[in-house]
Amino acid sequence: MSEQTQQPIIILKEGTERKQGNEAQRENITAARAVAEAVRTTLGPRGMDKMLVDTIGSVVITNDGITILEELEIQHPAAKMMVEVAKTQNDEVGDGTTSAVVMAGELLRYAEELLEQDVHPSTIAQGFILAADRSLEILDSIAIDVGTNDEVLRQVAATAINGKGAEAENELFCDIAVNAIKLIADDDGTVDTDFIGIERLSGGSAADSRLIEGVVIDKERVNANMPASVKQAGILLLNAPIEYKKTEMDAEISITSSEQLQAFLNEEERMIKAVVDRIIETGTKVIFCQKGIDDMAEHFLAKAGIMAVRRVKKSDMERLSRATGASIISSMDAISKDEIGFAGRVEEKGVAGKRFIFVTDCTNPKAATILVHGGTKTVAFEMERAMDDALHVVATTFEDQRVVPGGGAPEIELSVALRDYATRLGGRTQLAVEAFARAFERIPLTLAENAGFDPIDTLIELRTAHERGESTAGIDVATGTSVDMISRGIVDPLRVKTQAVASAAEAATMILRIDDVISAAAPKPGELPPQAAGMGGMGMPPMM
Ligand code: ADP
Ligand code: MG
Repeated sequence: MSEQTQQPIIILKEGTERKQGNEAQRENITAARAVAEAVRTTLGPRGMDKMLVDTIGSVVITNDGITILEELEIQHPAAKMMVEVAKTQNDEVGDGTTSAVVMAGELLRYAEELLEQDVHPSTIAQGFILAADRSLEILDSIAIDVGTNDEVLRQVAATAINGKGAEAENELFCDIAVNAIKLIADDDGTVDTDFIGIERLSGGSAADSRLIEGVVIDKERVNANMPASVKQAGILLLNAPIEYKKTEMDAEISITSSEQLQAFLNEEERMIKAVVDRIIETGTKVIFCQKGIDDMAEHFLAKAGIMAVRRVKKSDMERLSRATGASIISSMDAISKDEIGFAGRVEEKGVAGKRFIFVTDCTNPKAATILVHGGTKTVAFEMERAMDDALHVVATTFEDQRVVPGGGAPEIELSVALRDYATRLGGRTQLAVEAFARAFERIPLTLAENAGFDPIDTLIELRTAHERGESTAGIDVATGTSVDMISRGIVDPLRVKTQAVASAAEAATMILRIDDVISAAAPKPGELPPQAAGMGGMGMPPMM
């Protein structure tokens, strides 16, 4: 009979799990929204902190979206895509991670409602893309040109670190961030924050934090007989070990008598001495070596009054190169006067119970190190994250010279303008654009909620203000009412907002377009994973 011939054809490996259509979509949306829920309560200056405890019991207390998501070790594939949103946001602009994730979660919430009304996922995705493009135009039109005015740069920094536990030292942190960025900015106005190092110190208080023009390295000199302080120093940067260079022939050397050993040692000594002499000739007074320095070299260098530091991190080497003008040499043969840099002062000093090398008074001090103090390890970490956020937003603003008001003002403006735009579209796309407009409201709603106010009351007040044309009205987190964000000095870089819209829309549409999730079977306990099981034929009935 025909039914018997209609056996299902299995194309997937046994145990493979497959979810399709609605079921796949629902599950992905639920998982992604759970991620947004996890960070939502931390949004804004009055957001709460989270305490994260890992398997070995170490504790992180933070308010920072990206830190939370990185610590959580999220497993579900759709949820992981949300973590990617936060990572992209963090890499591209260094702030706005929580907003981006909350927005993506909200887009998916309304997408789910539309799916229930039988709107096709492709239609929703299309509408979202339209709405995102339109949002970027709207943001561009409400952005304010601010130049590189110090006051605005400080405001941007203050807005970014609001609620990050650095309130007490808000002014100090903002000043440090602004000065650091202006110090390292290139003449063409571009800023590479990699030229700013942060040294985190547990000990002292946040008020002890300061900016060092130059480079501070978390190392000591290799030998106590070397000078701890050098002035007017030629600087050699070496990415090669200072050691006896074994030729291939030497690999086979076998020493059978004490004379042979002596000869060998003499040879080694001669070679090291020659290298050190060459270094002395170049006028080098301080060596920063990315690799090791052997005992004999240490001895000769100390005797010559040269200060040497070994196993210096690559990022520190790059900052040193920028500050001192020295090139990083990757072979001892390349040591020459031309490659040497200069620093007016190199000093080993103790700070908060640790030893550091300070390289200051440089030729071109376009590199900086910020010493960030916190009373305890946990506090120091949170201070470092606040400083990092401040640096990034100041850098972004310095480059773009454009900001938008904070406190939910642009989101309300976007939501009002998008609703208007949607009515001109008609059809089902209109529904998707309206959903996008509604999703934006989650930002001011959450800011209000996290500050302890009735979110709906605040939203209505803000919406009314914007409809009256007050495009910079945002939430006053002290009263829950609508105030002009610009006069309060609450501003965010334009790029933080545009990036958040773009990445939230991208993640939401990507998740929506998935209608088939095929997961490989997990190996059963005690069973070897397929690649370890050797021949694929294991477990099959014997062939007849
Ligand atoms: P994100 O990870 O998205 O940057 P935050 O917790 O840093 O999340 O919160 C950022 C939001 O808080 C932005 O919308 C910003 O404008 C707003 N914000 C910051 N300071 C204030 C303030 N003093 N009053 C109102 N809103 C503020
Ligand atoms: Mg922020």
